[in-house]
Amino acid sequence: MNTQAMDFASLRAELQQGLALSKQGSYERRMPAKAALPKIRTALKGLRVLAQQQSTAEVWRTLALAEEVLLHYPAAVEALQKAISLSQHHDRKDLKRLAQMKGYAAKWNALGLMPSSLDALGRHLECQLVEEHCDHTHRHTEAWLIANSIKSPANAIKGLKSVGGYCDCEVLSNAV
Ligand SMILES: [Zn+2]
Repeated sequence: MNTQAMDFASLRAELQQGLALSKQGSYERRMPAKAALPKIRTALKGLRVLAQQQSTAEVWRTLALAEEVLLHYPAAVEALQKAISLSQHHDRKDLKRLAQMKGYAAKWNALGLMPSSLDALGRHLECQLVEEHCDHTHRHTEAWLIANSIKSPANAIKGLKSVGGYCDCEVLSNAV
């Protein structure tokens, strides 16, 4: 499909359909369901192009949403800031979302993990903890971080603790 040819209304519709399929309870930590990804990515690509040609608050705001759904927080923050700067009146909803996204971005940064890594860690812990009970350490988490060449396992564990993951079973229930 030639995304460059798509207009704003079609791109927004594409994104809305993707959102309907995404099954995301909260945008904060979960990647959208696989079935939703093609539509969301098509919308994202098109909106990035469109924002350069038709730089309106509404286009940037919609682009911010598409970036946010895919957990691209720095890009989402940037797009929303652009939308706010182009708005005649500062919408309190925009400002609230911006603060929220900056918080999420900081959290991800502190974790040093990509959303997809966190997903994979969750699946790993699920399997391990079925086989044996949690021994109140980060044994399985740590082994996974090392096996997957996460650059700073100690930082990642610190970040996981900051969201309530004080041992393997708590990482599974609170962090992934
Ligand atoms: Zn535990």
